[in-house]
Amino acid sequence: MFTAAEAERLIFTLVSPITSSETVDVADNPIGCLGRILAVAPLSPLDFPHWDNSAMDGYAVRTADVQTVPVTLQVIEEIPAGKLPQKALAPGQAARILTGAMLPEGADAVVMQEETEREVKPGSGSQTADQQVVILRSPPPQNFVRQRGSFAQVGDALLTRGQALGPTEIALLAAAQQPSVRVYRRPRVAILSTGNELVTPHQPLQPGQIVDSNQYALTALVAQTGAIPVPLGIVPDDRAEMKRAIAAALAQADMVLSSGGVSVGDYDYVDDVLAELGATLHIRSVAVKPGKPLTVATVEGEIGNRQLYFGLPGNPASAMVGFWRFVAPAIAKLSGHLGPWLPEFVWATATADFKADGQRETYLWGQLSASETGYDFAPAAGSHSSGNLINLANTSGLGIVPQGSQQIMIGQPLRVLTIRSTR
Ligand code: AMP
Ligand code: MG
Repeated sequence: MFTAAEAERLIFTLVSPITSSETVDVADNPIGCLGRILAVAPLSPLDFPHWDNSAMDGYAVRTADVQTVPVTLQVIEEIPAGKLPQKALAPGQAARILTGAMLPEGADAVVMQEETEREVKPGSGSQTADQQVVILRSPPPQNFVRQRGSFAQVGDALLTRGQALGPTEIALLAAAQQPSVRVYRRPRVAILSTGNELVTPHQPLQPGQIVDSNQYALTALVAQTGAIPVPLGIVPDDRAEMKRAIAAALAQADMVLSSGGVSVGDYDYVDDVLAELGATLHIRSVAVKPGKPLTVATVEGEIGNRQLYFGLPGNPASAMVGFWRFVAPAIAKLSGHLGPWLPEFVWATATADFKADGQRETYLWGQLSASETGYDFAPAAGSHSSGNLINLANTSGLGIVPQGSQQIMIGQPLRVLTIRSTR
């Protein structure tokens, strides 16, 4: 039996990232681009800022003119954002300037409006001509000037290969007028539920049957990683049918997930069928609770590709814990993600005692909440049975009692694997 850390390391060595890519356009389809992973680092065709511009509403000045204050300057022009300045500043002159507007030639600083007094000559008809401004504070050179190219320059890599596109990256690609980018193809992840007892949520439930919830849990979990879920339904505990179903799944996906059928029971055929299909079984159990039966196998494809197969346990909490702990990181690597691929762990303060048998790394689901020093973590009320979906719902983290440890006491720090936003 592998420890969780050993299993995690081994799984990463089995995953080869996808290399094929496609073009997407953040301006045509920003929502569809969310979470996509860059296959090529986009280069900037522009300097950022594109030209020297003002960071404030105020007056563009020559610092040489405003060494001694107060000093009165002639206002020669008004420059709102988007307007090309028409005149260069001569000694004794200033230009009214607004945030984002281009600096006029000759100016080397901006004085914010609050540090000036505007004098309008009586009888003056024009907005700006014949007007004066009193500068009250002497600015250093480049005061409130955003200098051309100071954020990025033409040819700079704006983002990194392997980086996922989020709102800020999408904004940057739009601003750089580089909306079209190469991203990796999204991996297809096939999903099978095994078990004679399983029915769909639409079928009438007969005594003794179990509703297949894992199909939907795994579909949603795969979608959250950015991969494409390919749900393939329920497979009975029958070797021939299972073999057909797994072969069909492998034929149409980059990775296959099944749930159920990996324990030591009489109807647990997944491992046998995988062996019959020529798969290499790398892992058959991991010292975690819940989720000890976990099969990890690889199948060498005909075109030199290698597919990863995860046989997750059938119990709903076990299957999901196995996904969060081992499958999601593998999908992250497969997707071409730069990494780190590991799940997100945070440290939190236990708000109750957390107990375990010490034999396996134990995950206890509960709620993370912000505290003054970081996070608190409270276990979900009710049974932490691996068959209990009721109290797994609405939780945000898995509190971890490490292998070899039997309890984490109230007030002690514990590691928590985050499973959703803490809001
Ligand atoms: P197994 O790992 O196949 O022995 O299944 C363990 C337990 O999980 C059994 O009680 C199954 O009925 C249940 N189970 C198996 N597959 C699913 C599924 N897809 N959805 C919900 N429960 C399941
Ligand atoms: Mg079963």
